[in-house]
Amino acid sequence: MNATTPVTTPGGAPDDWQDALFTQAPPRLGNQFDDDPLLGCWLARTIPAAVAASLTDELREIGGLAGGELYRLQLADRLNEPVLTQWDAWGRRLDEVVVSPLWREAEKLAARHGLVATGYDRALGRYARLAQFLKVYLFHPSSDVYTCPLAMTDGAVRCLLASGSREQQERAIPRLTSRDPDTFWTSGQWMTETTGGSDVGRSETRAARDGDGWRLYGRKWFTSAVTSQMALTLARPEGNPAGGKGLAMYYVEIRDADGRLNGLRVDRLKEKLGTRKVPTAELFLEGTRAALVGQPLNGTRTIEPMLAVTRMWNSVCAIAFMRRGLALARSFAKERKAFGQPLEKLPLHADTLAGLEAETWGAFLMTFLLVELNGRQESGEIDEQQRALLRLLTPLTKLITGKQAVAVVSEVIESFGGAGYCEDTGLPQLLRDTHVLPIWEGTTNVLSLDALLRSDLHSGLAALMGRASACLRGVTEPRLVAAAKQAVGALERAALVLESGQEPEIMQAGARRLAMTLARALQLTLLCEHAQWMMDHGGDRRGYAAAMRYSRQPIDLMTEVDPEADRLLLG
Ligand SMILES: Cc1cc2nc3c(=O)[nH]c(=O)nc-3n(C[C@H](O)[C@H](O)[C@H](O)COP(=O)(O)OP(=O)(O)OC[C@H]3O[C@@H](n4cnc5c(N)ncnc54)[C@H](O)[C@@H]3O)c2cc1C
Repeated sequence: MNATTPVTTPGGAPDDWQDALFTQAPPRLGNQFDDDPLLGCWLARTIPAAVAASLTDELREIGGLAGGELYRLQLADRLNEPVLTQWDAWGRRLDEVVVSPLWREAEKLAARHGLVATGYDRALGRYARLAQFLKVYLFHPSSDVYTCPLAMTDGAVRCLLASGSREQQERAIPRLTSRDPDTFWTSGQWMTETTGGSDVGRSETRAARDGDGWRLYGRKWFTSAVTSQMALTLARPEGNPAGGKGLAMYYVEIRDADGRLNGLRVDRLKEKLGTRKVPTAELFLEGTRAALVGQPLNGTRTIEPMLAVTRMWNSVCAIAFMRRGLALARSFAKERKAFGQPLEKLPLHADTLAGLEAETWGAFLMTFLLVELNGRQESGEIDEQQRALLRLLTPLTKLITGKQAVAVVSEVIESFGGAGYCEDTGLPQLLRDTHVLPIWEGTTNVLSLDALLRSDLHSGLAALMGRASACLRGVTEPRLVAAAKQAVGALERAALVLESGQEPEIMQAGARRLAMTLARALQLTLLCEHAQWMMDHGGDRRGYAAAMRYSRQPIDLMTEVDPEADRLLLG
């Protein structure tokens, strides 16, 4: 057969029949700043025009990277994971971790764009946190969770500002907030031990005095970002009592000037369901040199500012993953056809995606309210009611958005059919990475209890009701008024339950549904408020559609609680 003779199949078709077979166009991402259906109008409503204008170019640049170069690198980098080398060929202990190419790039971008530094940019006043987290929101989904060390870095800055010595502040803060990749440091947060991450008061790590400093002995069971230059950690000074009160917070630099590890070994990297690009290690502290931060007790309290910050990061990462999932799902629904039509034209597919959009809008508005309040607090422009709202919103936002993100991204996977289940689309990674959000920085149950059993719940609840009522007062469109009233009604019922003085066991058992009711009711009122604004400013009805759709999804999740009957089920 010569080169020009066409190959034929047994049926007689020419060999280009294979070229004629259908191949599906993959989902495409555009500029993630310009394509976001909510971001532009939310910016116009929330941030003064001059501040927004000063941010727009950089946000558009990050949006372009996130939907373009960084996203392509992320897909190409799919199989790379961090590698731990514990020994060299001659028996020298190394414990070196090499991270993925995308992580190396993400570190540079994070420093250059000031993903931590912007939050401390005093020139931005109370808008500093908003400016920072708009960048984080765009950057996160294309970073392979590089936001994990950034969150802890930011938390470390807040902690050191609150309790660090002058020396600690002067050494660490300029590095943690550097915009120069060569001098930028990240920080770890080593709290969880084998005894438990929720009940850290059981921590076993011991702190012994060594001259002017301290040495730490123990095992840290989950330490993400082991490649960081420093960490804040908890340990019990010798002689201190058991429990959280007996712990103290310590500042640790991980390597010395020669690059040698500071009295610790990296036992192994965790084999995880997701966040596989994040090097989460088990560490053994065997005389790690450390400096005390604050007093030699009450460490769980000293580290609280860290948690307030990382929970805010978690919430922003949750809405960012929801947005990324929907950006991909919406693109696919335009391209993919079934029964003669693009998926987006099929009523039930459209209904499914619309429900996810409404959840994402609600989660976004609540999260950026939390961010706004943090910015106000740090710039000193906050009143007592806002402060009380901020304290309650921190756990509520983290817990609800973590759960919303898992639900939304899981549904996104199904919206791709079988392709969503295949690794080389990159979609399973999105779901796996999202799944960590309800676990770390406090699980859903732990945060529900944190929100509802706190001593200042009364003022927090009053502030939450006040914010929701303000939303209701601001809406005039009759169906929005009805939806906002539905939400305020759910809040009133929740308040009655909370103030009914029920048995502690009953209160604890119902805490998750109660916390979620508060969160969902607030999201609905915020949606109504935003929807009214959109209609009043250009007649855009998308916000109205989101509020209406959200109002038809469950708001009041409270049910009767019967711990005794539940225990029968657990046998
Ligand atoms: C990928 C990854 C990275 C991590 N990185 C870090 C890190 O860098 N630094 C760090 O310090 N930690 C880190 N963690 C640990 C994480 O913070 C903990 O896993 C988490 O706090 C839960 O602690 P635990 O695993 O010990 O579970 P446990 O505390 O044992 O909890 C088990 C279950 O019991 C529930 N529970 C606990 N107490 C109550 C209660 N009172 N009422 C009802 N339910 C309750 C929890 O909700 C949970 O479902 C990481 C975890 C993961 C998965």
